[in-house]
This record gives sequence, C-alpha cells and structure tokens, in this order.
Amino acid sequence: MTKVKHLKRCRICNGKNLTKIVKLSKMPFTDEFMTFKNIGKEFLHDINVFLCKDCQVVQTQHDVEVNKYYLDYQYSVAHSKIANKFMCLLANNINSFYFKKISKKSILEVGSGDGKQLHQFKKIGFDVLGYEPSKILSDIANKNKIKTINGLFTKDSLNLFKAQKKYFDVILLTYTFDHLPNPGEFLDISKKLLKKNGILVVEVHDLDKISKNNEFCLFEHEHSIYLNKSSATKFLRKYDLDIINFNLIEEKYRRANSLIFVAKRKVDVNVQKKELLPKNKTSKFYFDLKKNIYKGIRNLEKYSSFNKKIGKRVAGYGAGGRGVMTLASMSNSKNFKFLIEKNPKSQNIYAPGSGLQIVNLEHLKENPVDEILVFSFGYMDEIKKDLKKYGYQNNQIKSFIDIMKDGYV
Ligand SMILES: [Zn+2]
Repeated sequence: MTKVKHLKRCRICNGKNLTKIVKLSKMPFTDEFMTFKNIGKEFLHDINVFLCKDCQVVQTQHDVEVNKYYLDYQYSVAHSKIANKFMCLLANNINSFYFKKISKKSILEVGSGDGKQLHQFKKIGFDVLGYEPSKILSDIANKNKIKTINGLFTKDSLNLFKAQKKYFDVILLTYTFDHLPNPGEFLDISKKLLKKNGILVVEVHDLDKISKNNEFCLFEHEHSIYLNKSSATKFLRKYDLDIINFNLIEEKYRRANSLIFVAKRKVDVNVQKKELLPKNKTSKFYFDLKKNIYKGIRNLEKYSSFNKKIGKRVAGYGAGGRGVMTLASMSNSKNFKFLIEKNPKSQNIYAPGSGLQIVNLEHLKENPVDEILVFSFGYMDEIKKDLKKYGYQNNQIKSFIDIMKDGYV
C-alpha cells in the first residue's frame, strides 16, 4: 500500500501560517501507467497546494511513500533534439560563464538519471559524478562510463564525501530540487560540498510561469515546493546562499515553465543587483491562480463534451505529466479516444486517473481522429511535423493551453 504522510508545518520555515490555495481531487501519480486489468487500482489522492504566508513558499503538505506498482517497462533512452540541445547549452554555459580558465573542474549531479547531462560535462573536461535513486538508470549511466552512485542523496552522502575530502565546483539539479521532501536540508548539505567558488545550479518549475500558462498539471504528488524568483531568493538566503544568476540559459532554449538559478555561498550584499531582489506576490496573484485553474478545467470539460456531442473524434497527445494530470482532473476525459505518445513506455498501457490507452503514432493509421489536443505543447513544432506524416494539418492540432484560456466556441 502507498502511504501518505500529512505535514502540519511549513517545509521551509517550520511555521504554521499556511493557507490552501488550490485543491485538485483524486489525482494519480504522473507516471503510474497501468495494464488494462489494473485500471481503477491506481493510487489516487487529493493534491492540496498551500502558501506559507511567513516565507512565501508554495508547497504541498503531504509526502507520499512511493510504493507504486510500476509497470516493468523497458526504459527508453531516446531524448528529443530539444532536450539534447538544452543539455549541451547547460554544460557549455556553466563552463564558459564560470570555469573557463579553470582546467581541473568537477561536477556532482543529484538526480542524474541515465547520465546524458553529465556526458555533456565530461565532453568539455569536467570530472563528473552522478547520484541517482533509480537502479535501472544508474546502471545505464555506469555502463556508459558516467560514474553514478545508486542511492538517495542524504546526510550520509555528505559524510561520505567529507571523509574522502571530495568537494565540487558545480552541484547540479534539474527538476529534482522541487521533489525533495526537505529541500532546506539539501541546501545545507550541498553548501558544505561546494568548493570556495563553487556554484549550485538548480532548475525547477517556475510558479510564475505555471500561473501565467495555467499549468496546474504541474501540481503533482511528486513535487514538494513551487518556487519563483522571489521565494527562491529568500529561501536560499536562509541557508547563506545567494542567487547570482537567473539567466544562465536563454528562455527560448528552455523547457516550458523552467526557472534556473545559479547560487553561490553568501556574497557581499552590495554586490547584488536590484533585479535579483524581486517582490513578494500579492494575494491577488494566488486568487487569480486558483480562479484560472478551475476555469481552465471547466473549459476543457466543455470542449470535450461539445466535441462528443457533434461527433468529433478527439485524441490527446503527450503522455507526460501534463497529459496525465490534466486528463485526470477532468470529469469527462473518457471522451478522448486515446492518448498518443511518440515513444510509449510499453505496449498496451493506460494512463492513471483517466484510464485512457496510450498509443504510438502508428495507431492513427487504423484509428484516425478528427482533432488532436496537444498536452506536451513545448514540443509543438516537432509534433506538428510528426503528425503531418500521418495526414494531419495544423488546424486539426490544438494546444490544451489555448482551450483552457479561451474555452471552445
Ligand atoms: Zn514557511
């Protein structure tokens, strides 16, 4: 059984001044894909999102002891061109901005996956080390000569590295920091593992962009906190870390909703630039966030009902977190014919929550649809190109963001 532990205090400041800003009922894990016979047995639990009025960090107040019955699927090592370009830029920019003149440099990546990102650093001369909780992924990385420790990064890791006198020029986390149940403890540990001029580089989902694009699907059981520039700045300061850069990578090369920050151990306050001290969000920001989320779900439901009524066959595209969570939040997601994914993790699998079948592009040959609603909109251009090969024109392909915003009439 999957256990849920409820917290009663802020994850960051331990305060009790928490207020609920969003509730999504009965939501699944984003990646607990099922076989047909397991539909209805998946983990479902409300996702409540809170704001700590003391430290301004938006967060969940439940931790899920992960015990999913994962399908025994083959891990796909396919990465899109966009993802590869990003990884390459991340390594090159960190190097040219901060370590150009240093010949011996090292990086530790926490949540390093299959080692693809570290490979980019290795190519340009970094000594690389990964830390990865998944056995399958760390095995892949090690096989590809990216040295990776299989395990969770904890205080024990700190002791281990300290005993070996191992310190790093860069500690990197991409979309891992906001999964940690206790991100403050992580900052405390990693700060102690940075060399004197070392940097901590973190990529998380940006709450401001989540709000702007109404991407409530990013409110997941797996995420513990949701930062923006101002709450991240304040949070890191608590741990004597100063954010020195929010523009490591140009916006156009990033994944949607990305917030990347580079932090150093405390630097002189006078050196900080003004733009690095953003203001707190007003209560209107949180009110609008909630209002737009509920309106977005209603618009998607109307879109789905309307198409069903006029006999239009609609499929979803993108079985990532966005697709899975958005569909799970809708009361009528069953109206979709199926959910298309370029590289499905397995054959004959179904999305948790909605129970929709995940199919590959080939499936469209025998089962054509009239319209495709894209959830993974960050890859829209690639998707349109792929769908064209199956006879779909641009006007048959819609982004779920637009439907949520404008409704469907
Ligand atoms: Zn707090």
